[in-house]
Amino acid sequence: MAKDYYRILGVSKEATTEEIKKAYKKLARQYHPDNKETGNEERFKEINEAAAVLADTDKRGQYDQFGDADAFKRSSGFSGYDFSEAGFGDFASFDFGDIFDRFFGGGVSGFSRGSRRGRDLRAEIEISLEEVASGVTKNLVIAKLDACSRCEGTGAQSGSDVVRCPDCHGSGTLKQARRTPFGIFATSSPCRRCEGSGEVVEHPCEMCDGTGQLEKEKKIQVKVPAGVENGMKLRIAGEGEAGERGTPAGDLYIIVHVKEHGQFTRKGNDIHVEAPISVVQAMLGDEIEVPTLNGTAVLRIPPGTQPGTVFRMKGRGLPSMHGYGEGSEFVRIDVEIPKSLSRRQKELLKEFAEASKDKGLFRRMFE
Ligand SMILES: [Zn+2]
Ligand SMILES: [Zn+2]
Repeated sequence: MAKDYYRILGVSKEATTEEIKKAYKKLARQYHPDNKETGNEERFKEINEAAAVLADTDKRGQYDQFGDADAFKRSSGFSGYDFSEAGFGDFASFDFGDIFDRFFGGGVSGFSRGSRRGRDLRAEIEISLEEVASGVTKNLVIAKLDACSRCEGTGAQSGSDVVRCPDCHGSGTLKQARRTPFGIFATSSPCRRCEGSGEVVEHPCEMCDGTGQLEKEKKIQVKVPAGVENGMKLRIAGEGEAGERGTPAGDLYIIVHVKEHGQFTRKGNDIHVEAPISVVQAMLGDEIEVPTLNGTAVLRIPPGTQPGTVFRMKGRGLPSMHGYGEGSEFVRIDVEIPKSLSRRQKELLKEFAEASKDKGLFRRMFE
């Protein structure tokens, strides 16, 4: 049975673009392959294909004439949406609304200028576990192709050098009539001369040779959210390289590395630490100071605490990026046995053993 794009998105044929967008966002989140519970790659591709067509007024009109995805694809040459460009790798920072807006790209003309969009960039930063706990803002300097400062990225010597494309009269597209089994059918393709932009430059900017791009060093502030995980990718939209002649810039992806900590081990949002106490503290109980990611905290050791006992301090772990499920700090007790004793200490311990005889303690040790 032929695919029905409206049914795939669960909207009516009269649905507004807003309704389609809403339905798409909900389903895309549900079926994204990285979603462990409900991910489904086949369904995900299907809804993206459906949205790419229904989001675009021209394509939607063509599709409506056929009411059948296969016939529409044969006649229009539409082959789906290019996912490789969209940065689909990272679910956590994935912006479904943004992707949808890219479907719209050149909504009116039916073609986006995305082909000359600037390159995506990648950078890495290293942060400490303490910075994971609090969140941190890092400053980076990145060498990249940025918008030319003389022409502001337009590639033109002056504003009056940007003129309407004579081939397509500024529409960015050329219409063609095509013969199909359903009759003569009008399709449009992007204008070659202006590459779909509808504008051409008469006198190129001297500083950037008309590309609109210049190599620059740029300072970038990166806000790293509290609770970030090692290896997580943060996306900063529009901070990649500038596109040619004013086309949109790429995105910057920041890979976050969390440094190993000398004291704490991280497991998810929890942290683990070892705390040494003396035999006497273990037997009599005490209050000890333990390190936390934010200064120290007092931990009460009950009398008779055994070596290897683990205490949990709620709320002393790492915050969650999702706003719930704050981690704990787990403190494992290590009881230190003194390696040498003074004569006085020995005497007292023998006395202690004597007093403990009826309890069966220390019997072997002093026999
Ligand atoms: Zn320039
Ligand atoms: Zn043109």
